Amino acid sequence: MEIQSRLPHVGTTIFSVMSALASEHKAVNLGQGFPDYDMPGELTALVNKAMKKGFNQYSPMPGWMPLRESIADKVAFLYANRVDPDKEITITPGGTYAIYTALTTILQPGDEVIVFEPAYDSYIPNIEINGARAITIDLVFPDYRIDWQSVKNAINPRTKAIIINSPHNPTGSVINEEDIMQLQQLVRGTNIFIISDEVYEHLIFDGRKHESMLRYPDLLERSFVCFSFGKTYHCTGWKLGYCIAPSKLMAEFRKVHQFNAFACNTPMQVGLAEYMANRDAYLQLPAKMQERRDRFIVLMKETRFDLLPSGGSYFICAKYDRISDEPDRDFAVKLTREAGVATIPVSAFYRNGNDHKVIRFCFAKKEKTIKEAAERLCNY
Ligand code: PMP
Ligand code: GLN
Repeated sequence: MEIQSRLPHVGTTIFSVMSALASEHKAVNLGQGFPDYDMPGELTALVNKAMKKGFNQYSPMPGWMPLRESIADKVAFLYANRVDPDKEITITPGGTYAIYTALTTILQPGDEVIVFEPAYDSYIPNIEINGARAITIDLVFPDYRIDWQSVKNAINPRTKAIIINSPHNPTGSVINEEDIMQLQQLVRGTNIFIISDEVYEHLIFDGRKHESMLRYPDLLERSFVCFSFGKTYHCTGWKLGYCIAPSKLMAEFRKVHQFNAFACNTPMQVGLAEYMANRDAYLQLPAKMQERRDRFIVLMKETRFDLLPSGGSYFICAKYDRISDEPDRDFAVKLTREAGVATIPVSAFYRNGNDHKVIRFCFAKKEKTIKEAAERLCNY
């Protein structure tokens, strides 16, 4: 059979490639972003309880209502904004799915979407499979901030949306109030949508405030705001998340969702609905993750890697020019094989493979894992 590829330029995601290489070489895996420590036992117990109580059939298409209510309460508490759990929140099988669904909801062939690079690797294929074009703008190296003049220059009548991701994967950069002001000015009076990837909302450091679209009614009116329970509760394998959008936008989002996943895993939604009342679980996250970042930074001082700043997410990038001048993909493969530490080459997050000779480390790992990795890197 002949098959014409819908995504002819896409290979296997770098996360799968590096994780496979890590296990082949028994390397410490600081590549793919997932915690290697346990998720909260109280939450798994609640899911167990839900299964035993018989919550094992389809949930409603937009999600288990008590979970949507818990999310609405959390949004009101954190961002001083009351969203309607009935019409403005949909539970999705992960954050990636929420972003894909939002893009599929709004895009027509020929539309343009502004994407900042380096960019999480699903965005551009998600745009292209909808027959639209990604217009990429480089974040300014090495602090990876947004150059708003470039955004202004890129906007034209075909611009359908801008994707914002803060805290940012892979760089750990974080948008601030000035960025929000710039964004407000640029989209005011236009029909440009915002897809806001906020899966790292609680992984934010040094007292920074998370600039959620949910704080700003003029931005929220045009936004699909996407979250992931995997990041907040250390359960990336659950693939559960949610999208928040104004009711008119959400009604269209649900038309796409209902004929794709239709609904999400019920017992996990039931468990999460109860667990979310525990505010400490997310309020303590920034400090806990910052501690992991800082421990990693101290240990890495003994190596020849030069870390770039990370203000959020669970990633930190590093330059390796004191060790090698190889392309970052080659270097990351060699580091896995020879030093036994897997990372992600940041050029994988650029469509044209732009290579600043930077690799990404994930520090959401046990103290023991981080120590082992740093020891191996010291000797490299
Ligand atoms: N966006 C970004 C920037 C991410 O890093 C992730 C985590 N893989 C996601 C979205 C999606 O998360 P999920 O696993 O819930 O699909
Ligand atoms: N978000 C994670 C990362 O950036 C993993 C994503 C994936 O494996 N698809 O590493």
